[in-house]
Amino acid sequence: MNHSDSPCTLIVGSGHAGAEAAIALRQNGYTGRIVLIGNEASLPYQRPPLSKGFLAGAVDHPALLMRPADAYEKANIETRIGVQVTSLDAARKLIELSDGGSLDYSHLILATGSRPRPLSGLDPECPLVNLHYLRTLAHAQQMREQMIEGKRLVIIGGGYIGLEVAAVALKQGLEVSLIENMDRILARVTSAEVSNFYQQVHQAAGLKLHLNARFDRLNLDAEGKGVESVQLSDGNRLPADLVLVGIGAIANTELAEQAGLAVDNGILVDEFTCSSDPFIHAIGDCSNHPSERYGRRLRLESIPNAIEQARTAALAICGKPAPYRSIPWFWSDQYELKLQTVGLSQGYDQTCLRGSPATRSFVVFYLREGQVIAADCINRQLEFALIKKLVQGGQTPNAQWLCDDSTPLKDILAQANAIA
Ligand SMILES: Cc1cc2nc3c(=O)[nH]c(=O)nc-3n(C[C@H](O)[C@H](O)[C@H](O)COP(=O)(O)OP(=O)(O)OC[C@H]3O[C@@H](n4cnc5c(N)ncnc54)[C@H](O)[C@@H]3O)c2cc1C
Repeated sequence: MNHSDSPCTLIVGSGHAGAEAAIALRQNGYTGRIVLIGNEASLPYQRPPLSKGFLAGAVDHPALLMRPADAYEKANIETRIGVQVTSLDAARKLIELSDGGSLDYSHLILATGSRPRPLSGLDPECPLVNLHYLRTLAHAQQMREQMIEGKRLVIIGGGYIGLEVAAVALKQGLEVSLIENMDRILARVTSAEVSNFYQQVHQAAGLKLHLNARFDRLNLDAEGKGVESVQLSDGNRLPADLVLVGIGAIANTELAEQAGLAVDNGILVDEFTCSSDPFIHAIGDCSNHPSERYGRRLRLESIPNAIEQARTAALAICGKPAPYRSIPWFWSDQYELKLQTVGLSQGYDQTCLRGSPATRSFVVFYLREGQVIAADCINRQLEFALIKKLVQGGQTPNAQWLCDDSTPLKDILAQANAIA
C-alpha cells in the first residue's frame, strides 16, 4: 500500500503512452511517487518495428527498448513489469494487482492500449500454432520463427499491419496472399489514389491480393492444432503454413468500465486527458478525446498521439494544464516507401496531387472548401514538417500551386499565411 497522504501517481500500462507519462511527470517537476505497471514481460519498448524491422530480423529486443532500465531508476520511477492490474476501485482510489498486492493513488493514469480485434468466434489467445495476431513482442517473436522462405502466409485484412507484414514476408521469399473484404486495400484510412498506388507496389512484389473477399472459416489440420487453409465464402480455399489476422484493434477499457467511468469506443476524456473521474486520466490507444479541429471525438492509434497525450496528462497532474490540440499524424513503412499521413481526410471534396506516383515520391492533399484537411506523403520526409503546418493551420492555399512540384512549399505556406 501507499501512504495515502503523500502524492502518488500510478500508471496502468507500460507501453508508449505509459512510459512517456512517467518520464514527463518527472520532467515537469512531479515529486511524488510514480509506479509504472505493465503486464508484458519487457520494460517499455517500441511497438512499430514489430511489423517492420523486428519481423525482418534487422532489429532485436534490446534495441526496441524505449529507455534502458537505469533511466527509470535515475528518474525514481518504480516499474512493476509482468504484473496485471486486476481491479480498480475509483471511490477508494485503489487498484489490485495480479501478484496479490494493492496500491492506492492520488492520481491514476490508464494507458492500457488496445488489443487485436479477433476473428469472429475465435479467441485471440487461442492455441492454434500458426494463427497469429501482431500486437506484442511475444506475438512478433512467435511469428518471426515461422517466417521461413517458401512458406505460404495468408493475411486477413488489408490495413497497415497486414501490408507491412506482407512487405517483409515477400522480401523474405514467402508466398503471400492477402484477403480484404472491401474493394481496395487501406480503404478505411486513405483515398483510392493512395490505395491504388500501394496495390500496384504490392502486386509487383508478388502479393496475391483478394479484394471483396469474405472470410468464411479456418480449415484446421487433422489434430485441430493448426490452420491448414483459409476458406473464403465464394468457395475459394487458400492453403496456409501461417496466418496473420490484422483486422483492427479494440480499446482496453475493462478497468475503466468496472470503475464506472464513461466509455464509448475508448475511455472518454476531456482535452486535458481527464476522464469522468477527476483523479483518473486516460491516454493513448485506450482513450477517446474531443478534437476541436475536427469537431468530433477521436480515438487514435498512433505513437504521436500516445506521446502527446502522455505529456498532456503529466502537465495536468503537475498543475500546468495545457489542452491537447495536436493534429493527428502517423507513419507506415512498406518496402522502401515511407508513408507519412497528417490530418483526417474524411469529408474531402477535392484532392491535389503533388509529384508523381511513378517516381514513388508524391503527396496527395485533401481539401474541403479550399481548406487543407489532410495529406498523405510518400517519400517526402523533407517536406513533411511544412505539410503538417499547412494541415494544422487549416490553410486555404492556392490549389494550383499545391499541385506544382516546382513551387516550394514554403512559398505556398507564406501565401496561405498572408491570406489567413
Ligand atoms: C505491429 C504494430 C505496428 C505499429 N506501427 C505503427 C507505426 O508505424 N506508426 C505509429 O504511429 N503507430 C504504430 N502502431 C501503433 C502504436 O504502436 C500504438 O498506437 C501505441 O503503441 C499506443 O501506445 P499505448 O501506450 O496507448 O498502448 P500500448 O503500446 O499497447 O501499451 C499498453 C500496455 O498496457 C498493457 N496493459 C493493458 N491492460 C493492462 C492491465 N490491466 N494491467 C497491466 N498492463 C496492462 C498492455 O499489455 C500494453 O503493454 C503500431 C502498432 C502495432 C501493434
